Amino acid sequence: MPESVLKHLYVELTNRCNLKCRMCARRFTKVELGELSVDNFKNLIPIFKKCQIIALNGWGESLVHPEFSKFLEMVPHNGPFIELTSNGVLLRDDIISQLTKLKSTLIISIDGATQETYEQIRIGARFKKVFDKLKTITKIKQSSGSNYPLIYIAFVAMRSNITELPSLIKILSQYSISFLNVMFLLVHGHELEKESLYFYPELYNHWIEKSRLQAADAGIKFNFPGFFAITGNNCKHTGTENLHRWLDCEAPFQTALIKYNGNVMPCCVSETSMGNILNDDFNRIWSGSEYTEFRRKIRTDSPPRECLDCHHCQTQNINNIHTHIKILQSEKL
Ligand code: SF4
Ligand code: SF4
Repeated sequence: MPESVLKHLYVELTNRCNLKCRMCARRFTKVELGELSVDNFKNLIPIFKKCQIIALNGWGESLVHPEFSKFLEMVPHNGPFIELTSNGVLLRDDIISQLTKLKSTLIISIDGATQETYEQIRIGARFKKVFDKLKTITKIKQSSGSNYPLIYIAFVAMRSNITELPSLIKILSQYSISFLNVMFLLVHGHELEKESLYFYPELYNHWIEKSRLQAADAGIKFNFPGFFAITGNNCKHTGTENLHRWLDCEAPFQTALIKYNGNVMPCCVSETSMGNILNDDFNRIWSGSEYTEFRRKIRTDSPPRECLDCHHCQTQNINNIHTHIKILQSEKL
């Protein structure tokens, strides 16, 4: 078994959100909402120093937390990379300035090159405003002479936006974007099945290749989940490929997610708590019996249940339907 060394820690400051995106899991399931307190965050600081990346996210939009700035004040400066994924709507100038003083990455979700497409997906956000924010970030970085935050863009690819990806890259080339990460839509409710590119493999392969070339031209690093396996006119995905991909998953050996309520999860997919920092020490949880058993099982043919159809990018098999469709229980009922 690999050595267990915590490298990437996710801290969920809140699981509330200011938007109602079409594809968001919260539309299809009921979750209890809440925030991590500043005091509980403070107790985590000794752990932060050991990590390479601290991601201030779990589910939800962290900028909704009324004390978000305080968290940025508390993270170690010149220590681990601070990562923040945001829809960008609530990003304020003072928060951008704080990020310029940290080794930081700001990941902004933009899933369309036109107002119509973007606003139909990111319900509650405004297309023009998100690009205004990109302009402001560039300006503040320039005036402070900082290379940080590095700006990454996250794009959830679906039937209604994949053809806009090359145009989006063209728009993004006007800003100092370091990286564009394309992810597949994970369908949580039947109404979204027609949006899954699993059913349009040729269309996806065509536009992703076009986008890859466009990104290379624009000097933007481009990450995408791969191409569908297609032979002639027949897509080879059958949904029966070997799914033993959990055997390669490093997450429980390197990653932890601390939820707003203190629960410690072994990755961003699992809903199995390994312990709770409100009543136990994180290091004890990390080396405790729940984690040890989870790690043992993931290296066997009978892994934890959630690993069987995991859609996590490290383990996903794009030719398998479970990577794309995961109808949530509350919808099934
Ligand atoms: S911004 Fe993220 S958390 Fe918020 S509704 Fe959209 S997908 Fe869900
Ligand atoms: S659920 Fe997925 S990401 Fe999490 S430990 Fe299992 S295979 Fe890895």
